[in-house]
Amino acid sequence: MTLAELEGFLAERGLPKYRAKQIFGWAYGQLAESYDAMRTLPAALRERLAVELPFVPYTTAREVRLAEPEGETVKALFETPDARHVEAVLMFYPDRVTACISCQVGCPIRCTFCATGLGGLERNLTTGEMVAQVVALARRARAAGRALTNVVMMGMGEPLANYEPTMKMIGILNEGAGLGFGARRVTVSTAGVVPNIDRLAAEPYQVNLAVSLHAPTDDLRTALVPLNRRWPVAELLDACRRYVGKTGRRVTFEYILIDGMNDAPELAEELARQLRGLLCHVNLIPCNPTPAGPFQPPSHAAIERFAGILRDAGIATTVRWSRGVTIAAACGQLRAEHEGGAGRPIRPARRTPAAAAAAV
Ligand code: SAH
Repeated sequence: MTLAELEGFLAERGLPKYRAKQIFGWAYGQLAESYDAMRTLPAALRERLAVELPFVPYTTAREVRLAEPEGETVKALFETPDARHVEAVLMFYPDRVTACISCQVGCPIRCTFCATGLGGLERNLTTGEMVAQVVALARRARAAGRALTNVVMMGMGEPLANYEPTMKMIGILNEGAGLGFGARRVTVSTAGVVPNIDRLAAEPYQVNLAVSLHAPTDDLRTALVPLNRRWPVAELLDACRRYVGKTGRRVTFEYILIDGMNDAPELAEELARQLRGLLCHVNLIPCNPTPAGPFQPPSHAAIERFAGILRDAGIATTVRWSRGVTIAAACGQLRAEHEGGAGRPIRPARRTPAAAAAAV
């Protein structure tokens, strides 16, 4: 619930409105694990809320951690009340702590290289199920003596295909009485749902937009991201230009690099040409191998060469050396492993790209 909804919920029960801010303060500010901890609430109210408004939709099915050169990565697999699994990752860096959360069980986009897309969309997550991932990871960060600083929607699912619950989540994180998490610290990553990029540009929240581009030409991009049939590269980049024009904010382009597929120097040149004059930043992501196919990351030298061509063309470029690969923390891998282990094989893609696009 938003703060306003919680105020309404309390008012309907003849309870004072100011309790809503207290509850937000405890649940999100203090990260209280139950109503029992909310000491400024009368005992009778705490008991009533525990029944009428329980706030724990998840159990943690598994947690894995890995110490890496620049920090630590913790991966959590959450189980929903209807026994589905979603992944979230917490990344500790020297200067920030980032939570990567999921917005859907599965994903309708079916990118060919992505483990999540393999089984298609099972269902959208609710606002509460997204907020609960952030809260669980904020607690986990606190247990390590750190505070959560960033949230990225780069887990399972397509946030711009679960639009309203995603916006509502951002509003709840933003609420000053609770986490007070500025929208600028939230990144929404999309495979390119063009109409909702325009909607996002019109929102009051100043979130960061990341666009999974992966290829500068339509043939190649359609082969990787079937949604490209519906909104091809030129339309997607036009939407990004409108977004920058309206918000004044830089767009991040994610470009996963797959050996022999989209890593040729000519493609870097074409990408630079397409992005010229657009306020943006390119994040190159050497691909993580998945059960989806024979995709492998290019050599270190090929990655640096691709990055160098973009930089020489004046495009701000970073390489995101992947974290969490050895704990299957990349892109739907942990769920695939868990469900595979439980006797549920990963289903191959059955739908055509056009059907995938229509599902968005
Ligand atoms: N649906 C949204 C957000 C979830 S995916 C989107 O497409 O942006 C988050 C990022 O992980 C995307 O850039 C996606 O392309 C990338 N990704 C998916 N599978 C990957 C893999 N095997 N290796 C590297 N990155 C991958």
